[in-house]
Amino acid sequence: MVHALLVQLPVPRLNYGVHTGNIPLGAACLKQAARRVPGAQVDILPESIAAYVGDAALLEILLERKPDVIGFTVYCWNLERSLYFAQKLKQLTASRIVFGGPEITPDNPAVISDAVDFYVYGEGETIFAKLLEDPSTWKAGSAQEPAGALFEASPSPYLLNLLEPEIENVMLLETQRGCPYRCGYCYYNKSHKGVSFADETHLLQGVQWALDHGVKELYLLDPSLNVHPGLKELLAKISRINRKRDLEIISEIRAESIDAELADLFAAAGFSWFEIGLQSTNPRALKIMNRPTRLEQFANGAQMLKQRGIVPAIDLIVGLPGDDLQGVSRSIEFVAEHHLADDIQVFPLSVLPGTDFRRNSTVLGLRYNPKPPYTLMESNSFLAEDLLLAIDHAEVRFDVVLYPMPDLDVSWKSGAEGSQTHPNDIAVKIANEPFINKLQLHSKRPLSELTALAKRLTQPYQVFIQPTLSSLAYIKSAVGVLTEINPFTPFEMIFMEPPSMPQSLSILSAVKLQRPHFLDQDLRYLFPAAGNRAVLFTLVTQDANIRFNRDMERQVFWWQKKRFPELTDLSELSDLDGILVDVAVGDGEIAAWQDRMAGHAEDLPFISFANVRLQRRWLMLTMPDDYTVKALNWI
Ligand code: SF4
Repeated sequence: MVHALLVQLPVPRLNYGVHTGNIPLGAACLKQAARRVPGAQVDILPESIAAYVGDAALLEILLERKPDVIGFTVYCWNLERSLYFAQKLKQLTASRIVFGGPEITPDNPAVISDAVDFYVYGEGETIFAKLLEDPSTWKAGSAQEPAGALFEASPSPYLLNLLEPEIENVMLLETQRGCPYRCGYCYYNKSHKGVSFADETHLLQGVQWALDHGVKELYLLDPSLNVHPGLKELLAKISRINRKRDLEIISEIRAESIDAELADLFAAAGFSWFEIGLQSTNPRALKIMNRPTRLEQFANGAQMLKQRGIVPAIDLIVGLPGDDLQGVSRSIEFVAEHHLADDIQVFPLSVLPGTDFRRNSTVLGLRYNPKPPYTLMESNSFLAEDLLLAIDHAEVRFDVVLYPMPDLDVSWKSGAEGSQTHPNDIAVKIANEPFINKLQLHSKRPLSELTALAKRLTQPYQVFIQPTLSSLAYIKSAVGVLTEINPFTPFEMIFMEPPSMPQSLSILSAVKLQRPHFLDQDLRYLFPAAGNRAVLFTLVTQDANIRFNRDMERQVFWWQKKRFPELTDLSELSDLDGILVDVAVGDGEIAAWQDRMAGHAEDLPFISFANVRLQRRWLMLTMPDDYTVKALNWI
């Protein structure tokens, strides 16, 4: 009997409870494939645990399970944290460790570690089953072997109840593996030789399963749905299953392929959104990236979707070889003039391992960060400041914020304070176990108590500094204790009306996070200068003068008046980063105020509430699609 545990770590976030998209579909495919191996037991670490538990608590969970094999699905956003866990597990257990996933390519030096016993390149089903079946397979240290007919012949792992669609209210359904296109910045086309399509009967069963299980959104995982054979007939069949369009279907497509008939069929089948890569309108850039595009057909196709209520989410890439600042401006104008900016996404170029751009980076003049997500720093045609200017220009022209600050949640009351001198820590229940989400720091709290609590933190977590705590030395010691065993877990420090201004830089010097953290690289356009973007500092005060606004600092007004703020009050405070509504009235009155204000939320500054239940209510009223209600399970 061999016991394997499969783990997929999420994109790090600074807001607890937001959707992480961390659906372990790859792990579910491996578990499905391993059913043919006699005596193999394969478990998937549930998404609810993997997405929301901090480093130290997660390590304890992995150690308790004592698997013979631990497999990590590795993406650029979880590579370094996966390596950290691999090293810890190697020191403390006899488990064999295998890495697979999009980040694992033969040309990626960043994945190499003594702690990893085996690397799977490309599809994992066949190799994983062999690793469980035949111990001699491990000797090779790495392998690449296609899943072959297994993919075409297998139903979606959701049908075997291997995944938890209720966490994100979304189901991922693979319709195709591989891609016939050869875009220079993309690895996907190389991870699978040729193109394979899922069996149509299985696809339709998947659509029916999503409807039967009340899933809101079905994501057809297909890099370019337009190449699907018999697409029009397939759409007609889906529309018969999704007659009432209860299911919102989303996918990716090349817009030039869309005609009126196809657009009608997409609408009838229940499609609501398509990701559409334009990347650039610059002919030279399009040629170098090997992505020929007929621009007028592109615009026509995207508009046909839009006319039928389907959102075309257009992608642009900044920093492409062959492009320059003027070229980016022309691409931005093209999207704006064709009214296609409804859900615009503008990314800096990532020079990904395994891609043609990575292989030819010297010739193409691309200088990129060697750490994930391998963002372009400058090139022969883009200075570092050009990249910033291009992102700024896109934000202004499209009137969007491409790198928003985290949402505001400074709630800390549970209603169970009683006669306590200090507020309680607030825990959440994850897989029936409590984990600390909001930790209270006050001068009487011994560091030994924090050492124990550090092993039970969520990801991310918050540290509240009570007004009575003025010792900078104590605060620094406390964050040192918390971060030493949680070196990848982002966190927020919230200073409640402190006697003096928080010393963010001095506190940062005591933080033991791994640096640079993925968020330091990923959020590099949040602030022009490099900073520490995995730690957020929030000052909550009744002083409306802005005094706390350096990078990763924000100032929130603590509204403790006897009445609720009106729209004019909120407008007067809109230069601050948010407002904490803490009016001493019953929950019912606060709920009524929330109901009145929710319709204006998009135009208001960030609002938070003192009580965690009311905070959850507000988040669900104003951002129901962004948060996982199961995670906001504050107790
Ligand atoms: S970017 Fe999309 S279309 Fe281009 S090769 Fe990759 S998966 Fe295919």
